Amino acid sequence: MDYDLLKKLSEADGVSSQEGEVAAIMADGFRKSGLKTEIDNFGNVLGYKSVGKNPLILGAHMDEIGLMVKHIDEKGFLRFIKIGGIDDRTLVNQQVVIRTRKGLVPGVIGSKPPHIMKDEERKSVVSHASMFIDIGAESAKDARAAGIEIGNAVSFPTRFFRMGKKLLCGKALDNRIGCYILMKLAEGLPDNVILMGTSQEEVSTFGKGAMTASYRLEPRAFIAVDTSVAGDHPELKPDDAPLALGKGPCIALVEAGARGNVADRKLAQGIFQAAKSAKVPVQIEVFDGGATDASSVHNLRGGIPSIAIGVATRYIHSTVGVAHQADVEYSIRLLRAAIASL
Ligand SMILES: [Zn+2]
Repeated sequence: MDYDLLKKLSEADGVSSQEGEVAAIMADGFRKSGLKTEIDNFGNVLGYKSVGKNPLILGAHMDEIGLMVKHIDEKGFLRFIKIGGIDDRTLVNQQVVIRTRKGLVPGVIGSKPPHIMKDEERKSVVSHASMFIDIGAESAKDARAAGIEIGNAVSFPTRFFRMGKKLLCGKALDNRIGCYILMKLAEGLPDNVILMGTSQEEVSTFGKGAMTASYRLEPRAFIAVDTSVAGDHPELKPDDAPLALGKGPCIALVEAGARGNVADRKLAQGIFQAAKSAKVPVQIEVFDGGATDASSVHNLRGGIPSIAIGVATRYIHSTVGVAHQADVEYSIRLLRAAIASL
């Protein structure tokens, strides 16, 4: 396991639509593995040895959830919108970094302290709309002088570290784990297979980067490489989320209660076969909420057989995630076998 690479990917900032830093890491890795690379009009990064008609595409979204500056008040405090599905409770008093033309500006999300909350306020969830970012500015002018503008992307400076025996902990593991897996598949990639870091998945309702690229490239099949919701902790029961860390990649047969992708049966069989031949355990997932890039691709053109393979991850869509090293390694092995047989 290349911890340094995963750390670099996890700590890179790539709030949806601003994935350039992640795309650069992926493009660099693809090139070093002897692939041609390309960044398309939408910000997707592609790596391939050669492309013919109807390639196989493996897509991993590069973007992460975050915030965006929407207003600078006269005292220099910033109001923000959420980019992607973030639970407001996870935002209170977090450290943030704001990406500006003058560089990174550190700050912290402020809110009313409990001492002066009314009883009912203390019991209810604080909405992000009543939070603000404090960057230590003395005025709006001061904030602007530091580089702050409306539309700046805001992310969380969570450091990556290893935990317990084989766990990985960091921000944006959803989906830098997928980006990492694609980079590890680059070595020895066969012809007519495209590895693709996709843009704006966290802010898509079945569309954006994976869709625009797949429309153009007309793949014979599309495999989304992403993370899945792990349910193996004290606040979730197996019937809420049956997936667990360390038990192998999760094969998603149904996404968003079947409003999203319903995995193509033949493709799913091919994946199960590949798992068997590579001796990789798998977990099967039917997703009620949530979807992956597979849902953005499956009903394009005349229909594109699509499926998602996820690494079970705890606490996704917050400022931190926890995943298991074995699942990452199993996914690489499974996808290598799948690429060779599909
Ligand atoms: Zn994801």
